[in-house]
Amino acid sequence: DFKNINDTLGHYYGDKVLKYVSRLVSSITFFEEYTPYRIGGDEFVLHIPGAFSESQMKTFIAYLFETFGKTHYIDNIKNTITASLGVVRYPEDANSVDEIIMKADLAMYNAKKQGKNRYCYFEQSMIESFDWKISIEKELREAVENNLFYLMYQPIVDAMTGRFKYFEALIRIKDSNIPPNIFIPVAEETGLILKIGRWVIEEAMAQIKVWENMGLENRKISVNVSPMQVQEYELINFLRNELIINNIDPADFEIEITESVLLENREHNIKVLENIKELGIKIALDDFGTGYSSLSYLTYIPVDKIKLDKSLKDRFLSLDNSQVIKGLISLCHGLDLKVVVEGVETLDESENLKIQNVDYLQGYYFSKPMKKEDATLYIENDIKKD
Ligand code: C2E
Ligand code: CA
Ligand code: CA
Repeated sequence: DFKNINDTLGHYYGDKVLKYVSRLVSSITFFEEYTPYRIGGDEFVLHIPGAFSESQMKTFIAYLFETFGKTHYIDNIKNTITASLGVVRYPEDANSVDEIIMKADLAMYNAKKQGKNRYCYFEQSMIESFDWKISIEKELREAVENNLFYLMYQPIVDAMTGRFKYFEALIRIKDSNIPPNIFIPVAEETGLILKIGRWVIEEAMAQIKVWENMGLENRKISVNVSPMQVQEYELINFLRNELIINNIDPADFEIEITESVLLENREHNIKVLENIKELGIKIALDDFGTGYSSLSYLTYIPVDKIKLDKSLKDRFLSLDNSQVIKGLISLCHGLDLKVVVEGVETLDESENLKIQNVDYLQGYYFSKPMKKEDATLYIENDIKKD
């Protein structure tokens, strides 16, 4: 009921309550290892490393509600503090911090709906659930209206030298826990992706111009384009106009598409891709190895580059299986396609892939996605290596 406290007793008192709750969650000694965080207004994350049984968690949650449920005196004012709790398990439910927090948020949201002092475990069905989608859609519409998107930039490096080649632009919503692999599908379902996708292209091209004006030679950016955008007849004109408006070299711009552009209206979409290539824009086929990934369509989809998905690399990079990656790479090279491997997280993987003749590498080992200011520093630091 934090909003109510703020509204009736003022923000100064509200801050005191937050500090009190912070101390409360910090004083918990239930687990040997345990770290509380405050991640927003009245939202806390409790991180508990280790493996626990259902009943242990149940006991802990009961203890937590009991701790909150006591009467609390803050500055001699009597407070009742209620809490709603969402539980996410790693690695069963989620793999990355973003995903964990988003899913905890979602579970908490479901707990809240049931009343006060409730908890919910995260379940996959919550993602499919209707009102969750509506709340994402609402957040997306607000973001579109108020221009709340920004781009993060992750470098893609030359596999041989480890030197910077270009950035992939990855969209985010300001001050939001919802990661793109959750909101992009909703944007696609609602058609909002058309507007969002145009913004991504405009923003990336403007950034290329900024770097060009700074005299930076390596300033290429690649953006993700959804099938619905390819489907849309206007994409070619839009790209052509934006290249002119921003006055940039098409060689500094690239797009990434997935094989799902082949699912519907294949012929039309292939035509669009061919026209995009005629503008001088290169095209990469993203997430290869996740869907059908038929080798035959590599012969007719007009792309210049293949991005091998992290999952493919994880499965086939081990010693016994490395022939698969090696074969795939030489097949791509035979078709005159460059190969990027995504999700490279260790030096070992990087060295291994270098031996397999991969052209480019991308992953946390080199850098996580960065804000544009840090991306600029990244290019400048790379130049110093000359
Ligand atoms: P993607 O195109 O496959 O982008 C790569 C994703 O892998 C990014 O996640 C990136 O942060 C993550 N990644 C990079 N290196 C590593 C690594 O070493 N380990 C691991 N575990 N992950 C790594 P992100 O930014 O959360 O984006 C998720 C997906 O959302 C993207 O997957 C893409 O499909 C979609 N997306 C992001 N931005 C846009 C956009 O502007 N338009 C469209 N249509 N889709 C976008
Ligand atoms: Ca991509
Ligand atoms: Ca990908």
